[in-house]
Amino acid sequence: MADRTRNLSCSFCGKDEAEVQNLIRGIAGNICNECIEMCHNIIETNSPIEEAEDFDVPIPSKIKSYMDQYVIGQDRAKEIISVAVYNHYKRIYKQKHDDEVDLEKSNIMMIGPTGSGKTLIAQTLARFLQVPFAISDATTLTEAGYVGEDVENILVRLLQNANYDVPKAERGIVYIDEIDKISRKSETPSITRDVSGEGVQQALLKILEGTKVNVPPKGGRKHPQQEFIEMDTRNILFIAGGAFFGLENIIKQRTNKKAIGFDVEIGEVTQDHNIFDLTNPHDLLKYGLIPELIGRMPVICTLHELSEEALIAILTEPKNAICKQYQKLFEMDGVDLQFDTEALKEIARIAITQKTGARGLRSIMERFMIKIMYDIPDQGNVESCTITTGVVSETEDPVFTFVKPIRSRARAAGED
Ligand code: ADP
Repeated sequence: MADRTRNLSCSFCGKDEAEVQNLIRGIAGNICNECIEMCHNIIETNSPIEEAEDFDVPIPSKIKSYMDQYVIGQDRAKEIISVAVYNHYKRIYKQKHDDEVDLEKSNIMMIGPTGSGKTLIAQTLARFLQVPFAISDATTLTEAGYVGEDVENILVRLLQNANYDVPKAERGIVYIDEIDKISRKSETPSITRDVSGEGVQQALLKILEGTKVNVPPKGGRKHPQQEFIEMDTRNILFIAGGAFFGLENIIKQRTNKKAIGFDVEIGEVTQDHNIFDLTNPHDLLKYGLIPELIGRMPVICTLHELSEEALIAILTEPKNAICKQYQKLFEMDGVDLQFDTEALKEIARIAITQKTGARGLRSIMERFMIKIMYDIPDQGNVESCTITTGVVSETEDPVFTFVKPIRSRARAAGED
């Protein structure tokens, strides 16, 4: 007989009785209120293809102009991705079951240095499309059965972010970071097992192309007694990104070889250019990605290292630019915060020397802003605060102006 005293859990998502509002007990298993809601959604949702007729697939220029509000520069990458996303959603929503031409998935490979906006682009896309989004780090994954995360956990995160609405999650976007770190150790298939490199690539293949995957709803390792949720990955858009450090040498080798016999080196000709723009699938193969994985990420786009100008724009222009955020915080204390152009340049220069791209901007600013934000509320009469280069290099205090006391204000107005 079943032991009625032990902790009960939902047979669908695995959540414990204490974690949910209601748990309804059945003969064959139990179901929680969240899963009931999810089942209701599934029943209500028709197949994506039928729903398609009403879905207004956004055109590439619309997708790009939305991204322009948040992502500075990287125009070419934004264009390529906008087209890929457009095609992806056309494939999901407009393709008919009986079409003779089968549209392939346009999973995307983004190549670009740290802090150049790869994750930001993927995140912004998901927000624009209002689809669930999940980020995974390829370096935490290992082949099933070895220490580390199973590849299915990528989908668990997506499912959780979709609030366990399976059909919704099945049209989401997954960003896999650091894909370059799972390159195989040598160009030829390994003799010894390469469980965190080639093994993971093999495991990823399965979910990338589109298949039904059994996902453990709470994540963790798969085990035989676990309940699973079946997810179809056919319509999930996978975007992988990596810095691919050293790839430039492979590209240079290839392009220089081609130029033999001519008096120029293509590498030199393209110096102004981002050499990564010339990446082709063969370079990725040489880098250590397996051909099947490269084949499943047919859209390759490259992001450039951000220039001083771009970094300044990032500090000041996007809707949620870092400087705007500080200004907002200061405004709440009645203080008008200003940044000298030279100060902004200095912040950008520090970020460039640190080689952290835009990723480092916030921490560079926090270093000198913390003290100012600590002191200002004590003073209580600050009207404006200007950040100069000296403040950034921590050799000077900001330039303050203060609210004049009522008496001296009156005197200034000539009433005394
Ligand atoms: P990575 O290329 O390493 O994935 P991220 O997209 O995570 O870099 O960038 C880190 C942070 O830097 C972002 O959250 C964003 O604030 C800022 N950032 C990076 N690139 C850009 C960009 N092109 N435009 C605006 N902000 C950017």
